[in-house]
Amino acid sequence: MELRKTFQFEAAHLLPHLPEDHKCRRLHGHSFQVEVVIEGDCDPELGWVMDYADIKAAFKPFWNQLDHHYLNEIPGLENPTSENVAIWVWEKLKPELPMLIEVVVAETCNARCVYRGPKA
Ligand SMILES: [Zn+2]
Repeated sequence: MELRKTFQFEAAHLLPHLPEDHKCRRLHGHSFQVEVVIEGDCDPELGWVMDYADIKAAFKPFWNQLDHHYLNEIPGLENPTSENVAIWVWEKLKPELPMLIEVVVAETCNARCVYRGPKA
């Protein structure tokens, strides 16, 4: 069974490796959405996989690092594409949430990146 919890944060970034005339090379911002997906068995007694509040608590310190920040200044996010934000979130969250199976990062309503961890 999967649980999916969505978070939103506002942040600025630019993509430094793109050509000067690419729009994403200019400083701009997004209302990012991050979806955190965990997988596990439903506890027969509690009737849930885990407490959504525990997912929120695990993500909170990293959300604090992202929200209303300039992503390029965050260690590990010098090139803050959606792909690299997804990897960054995965690497921060996986030790806290071993049941994590997927991180989805959306910069806009109609474009999203799904990361399911490094290939074994
Ligand atoms: Zn952007």
